[in-house]
Amino acid sequence: MKDQNCFYCMDTDKRRELMTEITSLKLADLYLFRDQTYTGRCVLKFRDHKTDFSQLTDEENLEFAKELRQVAAALTKAFHPDKINYAVYGDLVPHLHIHIVPKYKGGPQWGGPFTDTGPKKYLSDAEYQELIAKIRAAL
Ligand SMILES: [Zn+2]
Repeated sequence: MKDQNCFYCMDTDKRRELMTEITSLKLADLYLFRDQTYTGRCVLKFRDHKTDFSQLTDEENLEFAKELRQVAAALTKAFHPDKINYAVYGDLVPHLHIHIVPKYKGGPQWGGPFTDTGPKKYLSDAEYQELIAKIRAAL
């Protein structure tokens, strides 16, 4: 179920530097991305070590999609973005995970793909906890 060499399977300092756990759903774990350039940006990780949707059963795929919908609805309720962008990459970190990136008209990269190459926006611990509380309340 877990790969000892996997960034997403293992609870490492490197992962904690990038994201903070919000909650666990039935099949997936939800994290708040520490770079909050896009307010409310999260990562939804399939809990077991799978590297592609094609490895999921129909039931797992449906449940994972439901959990994604639940998170998107919660982010919409909590932050009122104008659009949510989704990204599934994994060339270098193949564990199945989805970047969920709220976008705002007039905000960074509105009208184009979000990027990780610009300046980062880090918050205080209290501000992260406030965002996490908002998301948990909306789930
Ligand atoms: Zn993994």
